[in-house]
Amino acid sequence: MRTARTLQVLARSWAVLAAAFAMTALCTACSAHDSGKITIGVKFDQPGLSVKKPDGTLGGFDVDVARYVAARLGYGPDRIAWIEAPSGQREMLLRNGQVDYLVATYSITDSRRQKVDFAGPYLLTGQSLLVRADNTDITGTASLQRHKKLCSVSGSTPAQRIKDRYPGVQLQRYDTYSACVEALRNGAIDAVTTDDVILAGYSAQNPGAFKLVGERFSQELYGIGVRKGNDGLRQRINDALEEMERDGSWRAAFVDNFGPAGFAVPEPPPIER
Ligand code: GLU
Repeated sequence: MRTARTLQVLARSWAVLAAAFAMTALCTACSAHDSGKITIGVKFDQPGLSVKKPDGTLGGFDVDVARYVAARLGYGPDRIAWIEAPSGQREMLLRNGQVDYLVATYSITDSRRQKVDFAGPYLLTGQSLLVRADNTDITGTASLQRHKKLCSVSGSTPAQRIKDRYPGVQLQRYDTYSACVEALRNGAIDAVTTDDVILAGYSAQNPGAFKLVGERFSQELYGIGVRKGNDGLRQRINDALEEMERDGSWRAAFVDNFGPAGFAVPEPPPIER
């Protein structure tokens, strides 16, 4: 009798220990460990991708991806803590352990790979231009060289590309794309540049006010940022993304969120194991 009980207690303690170990292995940088939540960084102001609505809830393609992955890691919607992750703060948020992962229109690049790791990619997009609907003199990157005022965001790949390749452009860097779009609306700048899915979201939200011009002039592959060296989490996120693509949820999320902006459903980019 007594031996059986002792064994039972022992087995229970092992189970608790194993669960604790699994949690630690999953997120070595879990900022909200104590609350039993997982912390995810997203944008709050990019319609179609990730937007915080007036009622406080979040919606968009990145949010759907983030929630799907969280569910596969064992965190339902009520166990997610959302943090705003502006472009210029993403590496810092991961390095400081303030978020467990980032789903924030975050392009995979070699220079970012020095500081963080990426799961995915889960979406291919590219840089483009947004102008006011009545604009006729900006038709592509070439027309920017005539000292046009172009807005993009600090710490983003599109801002860096303009700085490196289009020296004739007056680049103004703001903290968020929504601030750029406001400046475009009131005439303070001539165009906004970033990934076309982001620009299309603003355009769909403001019918008749803006238009996208020219072709994509880069390839942006969105990855899910994790802390450098957290390979266990990275692999589990990759498993979740694969599952999301296989079971039709990826496609459904694309149609829901980018349908209004008029994008045809592409094939998801191959995941880099
Ligand atoms: N995908 C680009 C980047 O990661 C632009 C979008 C953004 O700033 O979030 O920099």
